[in-house]
Amino acid sequence: MDTDVIVVGAGPTGLTVANELGLAGVRAVVLERLPERTGQSKALNLQPRTAEMLDMRGWLDPVLDRAVTTLPGGHFAGIPLDYTALDTAYPYQVGIPQARVEEFLEAHLATYGIPVLRGHELAGLTQDADGVTATVTGPDGTGRRLRAAYLVGADGGRSRVRKELGVGFPGRDGRYSLVVADIVLADDSALPTDWRLPNPDEDDGDVFLIPLGDGVHRFLFAGPEQQKHDKDDPVTDDEVRAALATAKRFRPQLLEVRWASRFTDAARQAERYVSGRVALAGDAAHVHLPAGGQGMNLGVQDAFNLGWKLAAAVRGRGQGRTPERLLDTYHSERHPVGADVLANTRAQGVMMWPDDDVRALRGILGGLLAMPEANRRIAGMISGIDIRYDMPGAPGHPLLGARLPVRLTAGRGALLGPDGGAALPWAGRVDMGPAPEGVAGTVLVRPDGYVCWAGPAGDGASLRAALERWFGPGD
Ligand SMILES: Cc1cc2nc3c(=O)[nH]c(=O)nc-3n(C[C@H](O)[C@H](O)[C@H](O)COP(=O)(O)OP(=O)(O)OC[C@H]3O[C@@H](n4cnc5c(N)ncnc54)[C@H](O)[C@@H]3O)c2cc1C
Repeated sequence: MDTDVIVVGAGPTGLTVANELGLAGVRAVVLERLPERTGQSKALNLQPRTAEMLDMRGWLDPVLDRAVTTLPGGHFAGIPLDYTALDTAYPYQVGIPQARVEEFLEAHLATYGIPVLRGHELAGLTQDADGVTATVTGPDGTGRRLRAAYLVGADGGRSRVRKELGVGFPGRDGRYSLVVADIVLADDSALPTDWRLPNPDEDDGDVFLIPLGDGVHRFLFAGPEQQKHDKDDPVTDDEVRAALATAKRFRPQLLEVRWASRFTDAARQAERYVSGRVALAGDAAHVHLPAGGQGMNLGVQDAFNLGWKLAAAVRGRGQGRTPERLLDTYHSERHPVGADVLANTRAQGVMMWPDDDVRALRGILGGLLAMPEANRRIAGMISGIDIRYDMPGAPGHPLLGARLPVRLTAGRGALLGPDGGAALPWAGRVDMGPAPEGVAGTVLVRPDGYVCWAGPAGDGASLRAALERWFGPGD
């Protein structure tokens, strides 16, 4: 083996998986086809659950140092959501360009000695009972082979890994086309200076402008002209200028287009997230309209679910005494979460259609979302706070499968409560500590911060079974 895990793609998903592997002491290599970082950002935000997960590892503070602002809440199809209703230390969104998140993740990865091989494109892969062989084209065009125990396809929506595996990507193509452009205007003094959320009820037709700082504005538009183009057609400055001219309330003069690209409301999800020794994560596993600011967050959270399971598989501890491999729970847990995001973004896409009937519907939904219970439900969904995994054991316990915001900086599990001593045979994999405030009995928390067992003190046999299931046999 050249390494334990090959991660394909140095986007936010691949870099997070690689950091999780590094934390677990697993050898990994990241392949990235681009010769250098572009500095471009599609995503602009961290949702509360992503902030919690970064904080769980002690990585949030350096990320916040790179942030531009905080957004008071979230939105559903532009209708504001109040995140202060959420029980979290981060009841807001962190406003931070994706490139700065990647910059932190790549710098941190270097502390584990995990290389990002730039200019290296995955061209093919095969797998057998013992490992995966990747064919890689290097910067000089020559091919080489890399062999590893596992491979992660975090190579974006057009994933080569997914295609090589022949995994289906059912869903539908885009029905409308949009353009994202980061632009500099001659005079932006008439524009709002806060990171206002796009609001179809208030904005200028289809024109959304979000100030990113340093005189740069994020410009989103989707007029009739854009519908005539293929996704790969370049966006010209004239096209951006013409779209700006459709704004009714202001006449900004374009100075510069920093970068621009087309995207659609295509909605597709990989049929299987795990195929033998290969897992798909992030956009490689799901694509959807970036409504509500969820895609990068979903990918980073995929990575936190996958990383520790892969590390356990590398160490041969992933089998436990259950028929299901630990790695397969990555699919059974994250596929439904991805499907929920596809569903809510499809719904948002319809709700943002510029049409009087849709506007009427938005008015009604806006009224409903002003009600605390409705706001809490949709805010819990978009923020990622309400994600809950099906877990075996003690069904009905209020914490089982839910997140528990505790610090797990070493990337190990934690057994918290009076039965902590039961984890002794798992020392090194599971830490022990007192029950968090407000938690009765004992809880077992996985390295990704989700409760995988919860019960009253003294339920020894059931607890040992859970430790074995999630952490392998005790020493
Ligand atoms: C206009 C727009 C706005 C968005 N806004 C938001 C937002 O506000 N909030 C949010 O959460 N999400 C948002 N998203 C979604 C978010 O940007 C993506 O979900 C995120 O980039 C996915 O990260 P990833 O690492 O999975 O994939 P990518 O970021 O696509 O990274 C994949 C990497 O793999 C590399 N690669 C591809 N093929 C190969 C190969 N064969 N070999 C080696 N390397 C390869 C690529 O070069 C790339 O670096 C937005 C998307 C768009 C289009």
